[in-house]
Amino acid sequence: MKKDQLLTRRAALLAGGVGAAATAGVLTAVTGDVPAGSGPAAGAQARSPRSASAYRLQPLTGYGPPHAAPRRTLVRREPLLRVSGRGRTIVLTFDDGPDPRYTPDVLDTLAEYDVRAMFFVCGEMAADSRGLLSRMTDEGHVVGNHTWSHPLLTRLTRRQIRREMERTSEVIEETCGERPEWFRAPYGAWNRATFQIGAELGMEPLAWTLDTLDWTTPGTRSIVRRVENGAAPGVVVLSHDAGGDRSQSVRALRRYLPGLLDSGYRVTVPRRHYA
Ligand SMILES: [Zn+2]
Repeated sequence: MKKDQLLTRRAALLAGGVGAAATAGVLTAVTGDVPAGSGPAAGAQARSPRSASAYRLQPLTGYGPPHAAPRRTLVRREPLLRVSGRGRTIVLTFDDGPDPRYTPDVLDTLAEYDVRAMFFVCGEMAADSRGLLSRMTDEGHVVGNHTWSHPLLTRLTRRQIRREMERTSEVIEETCGERPEWFRAPYGAWNRATFQIGAELGMEPLAWTLDTLDWTTPGTRSIVRRVENGAAPGVVVLSHDAGGDRSQSVRALRRYLPGLLDSGYRVTVPRRHYA
């Protein structure tokens, strides 16, 4: 299964070509339509303009260093704020981790209800908790890039921004076996450079629709109420599993997740399409 996904992924990479040509034929859309348990690589089913034999001639042992070139994406002018999809689809995202004090609890709750979420991890946290990163991947969650040290990117040089993103993507690739396909700027502070560099590294920028404000530790009930009141089809929910005392975020998830499912929401992860 894993091998098939890698092959499919590789075919898609080759179909994309390199450099500017790669962006021309790629239409990236976001949808909540993803079957539970399917990895992000499953979305990479490009209609290959090459014959199958063309990529079979390529060595299939990539993914160790030196890294394969990332598949560039279109450069956006603003981040995606929500997902499209049929029905009552909602996406849960957890930022700034992983943190061994809180992330395992979040993962346990998600596993209990058999739903997938997104984790926008910081490289310096991830490097210390690779086991948690592996667990995220193994359990079908999507690991995104949230920079190395969580700086305000708009105050950094292009070179510094690239370094923040690149190092983090490397840790994710080394640990999860795949480059991240999603990127989120700390504090939601985006600029042209972040979109351009993110695209060069093959990532789509995803912001959020609903901030639970859990980082202000407003109390578990307040976090739950925000999610319940803000839930709507296509909404992307922002929470945190690190960066401070996140016990309220952990407890809130246990309360609002079954509530969302009872209300008919499909909690899922977005998937990128390559047309
Ligand atoms: Zn953050």
